[in-house]
Amino acid sequence: MTEIKILKNILDENRHRADDNRQVFNKHGILALNFIASPGAGKTTLLEKTIFGLKDRLNFAVIEGDITGDYDARRLAALGIPVVQINTEGGCHLDAGMVHRAYQDFRLDKVDILAVENVGNLVCPAEFDLGEAFKVVVLSVPEGDDKPAKYPLIFSEAGAVIFSKIDLLKAVNFGLDKARADVRRINREAPIFELSAATGQGMGEWLEWLSGKVESMKGDEAG
Ligand code: MG
Ligand code: ZN
Repeated sequence: MTEIKILKNILDENRHRADDNRQVFNKHGILALNFIASPGAGKTTLLEKTIFGLKDRLNFAVIEGDITGDYDARRLAALGIPVVQINTEGGCHLDAGMVHRAYQDFRLDKVDILAVENVGNLVCPAEFDLGEAFKVVVLSVPEGDDKPAKYPLIFSEAGAVIFSKIDLLKAVNFGLDKARADVRRINREAPIFELSAATGQGMGEWLEWLSGKVESMKGDEAG
């Protein structure tokens, strides 16, 4: 019983901090995205190609969450954008306080999209709001089409769902229709993208949708 209460307090405190983060992001006109996926789903490659595709039009900053090391942060910093690495030292998710400390390093007025790459895990990142505008849940086709049904919470919370590594579809047993239908059963709203960051297939649609999100947010601000 005590354990349950402690978890509730942690989540309550996290929610307050996430609300504070969200206010800061809104004030600076930043679209904050929380990228969630299993290890190896291709989050970092997707981020690389997303940033590469839009960086002439939009300013990015990245918060890179990993248990240890800065391998992914170095890959993204190579694109010439500001990156802060968070090492959770064993922790399996980011929380709003970690994100708050990380964005102190950015010049927020210069940022249009803040991409947070969460620790690779489909389970508890679903519970921790970071203050993002929405979660982007990435499922690579080699992981299997059963994942939306097996991890419904994270798919229900997604603002966008991406089926990645779609170029591998013929080599693996992944029913696109089944996966789409399972996501739709859990989440009526989120757009579902099918793409390969490696080959570029389907990337255009995702990039257009994302830049539209930034434009409509800036439009809301002006109005
Ligand atoms: Mg990564
Ligand atoms: Zn965790």
